[in-house]
Amino acid sequence: MAYSFELGPIRPPSEAYSLLIRATMNCPWNRCKFCHIYKGKKFQLRSLEEIKQDIKTAKVIQDEIKELSWKSGYGGRVKEIAGKVFSNPPNQAAHNVALWLYAGGESAFLQDSNTLIMRTNELAEVIRFLKETFPSIKRITSYARSKTAAKKKPEELTELHQVGLSRLHIGLESGYDRLLQYMDKGVTAAGHIAGGRRVVESGISLCEYVVLGLGGREMWREHATQTAKVLSEINPDFIRVRTLTINNKMPLYNEIENGDFIRATDEEILEEERLLIEHLDCHSNYVSDHITNLLQEIEGKLPEDKEKMLAAIDRFQALTPEERTNFRIGRRVGIYSQLDDLYDLHRREMVERLVQRLSQGNEVDEKTIHALMERFI
Ligand code: SF4
Repeated sequence: MAYSFELGPIRPPSEAYSLLIRATMNCPWNRCKFCHIYKGKKFQLRSLEEIKQDIKTAKVIQDEIKELSWKSGYGGRVKEIAGKVFSNPPNQAAHNVALWLYAGGESAFLQDSNTLIMRTNELAEVIRFLKETFPSIKRITSYARSKTAAKKKPEELTELHQVGLSRLHIGLESGYDRLLQYMDKGVTAAGHIAGGRRVVESGISLCEYVVLGLGGREMWREHATQTAKVLSEINPDFIRVRTLTINNKMPLYNEIENGDFIRATDEEILEEERLLIEHLDCHSNYVSDHITNLLQEIEGKLPEDKEKMLAAIDRFQALTPEERTNFRIGRRVGIYSQLDDLYDLHRREMVERLVQRLSQGNEVDEKTIHALMERFI
């Protein structure tokens, strides 16, 4: 169990229980102002041998967990032993394999930020080898950039789908050209549409990520309407939102400090989200599963759940100012997960005490709330 393999820093929330295999390292673009994940780190392709060796090591760890299960009288059932290993793991790799086995061992995620940049035949070989090594795996997903997806030939994406690439996660962030340029995303709205449509047409499931609040106070309207327009043209299977959260490792931090970019408040971001949802004309699943989002209950299948999703925003806006502050703080410290939690007296009193401590007789300021959010990234 002392064996280990490479692990990258992030994966989508929906891949929390996936086996993580680091197919490439860091980000080949690495310039987006709102992103700190790979700053200061050089992008690297990994050789097929290195990636396969990591997959083999994951198999060794899996086999050890299975053996332990036999030795401990669980008859080869891995769940009990996997649970013990991930609560007290010898290293991160063993933690990942144990958690994956505990959850059923059915999905894998290829890290890092743009695995699609690999040569198609090599990526296909990694996917084939992963499936041969772990026949239990039914779903393999990865991150990609729109620009890279647009550069792949349609037949290359179809091949990847046929060998077993189930889904690509793309950071759309915004569909507004001026904002994409300001944030140095390295792609235009047209580029997003070209890349996204190419993935959809190949049969690979597509998840597009949007950053709520990315337009700040100046560009929020265009950010919402243009993003909705681009998403409606792509019609991805999933639209996932997360809320702009800043730390001092991001280039955007300095622009905020010097007053060039003014952040929107939670309440302004909800107005932006309302506009986004109103303008969406697609058949996607809208998912709000990120801890940074104020209202995680804004979820549903478009277009049929649109009214229900907008009603969640109405519900928040109908609260008194004190209740809204209480909810914002409770949410940002992880005490609340949805609006109904506001009516749990015990939790509400806990948050009330916290609000009093943070406000010291005044209103809780935005900086305090932003500092609480920073802990999530
Ligand atoms: S947002 Fe994605 S493309 Fe941009 S720097 Fe971060 S990882 Fe790279």
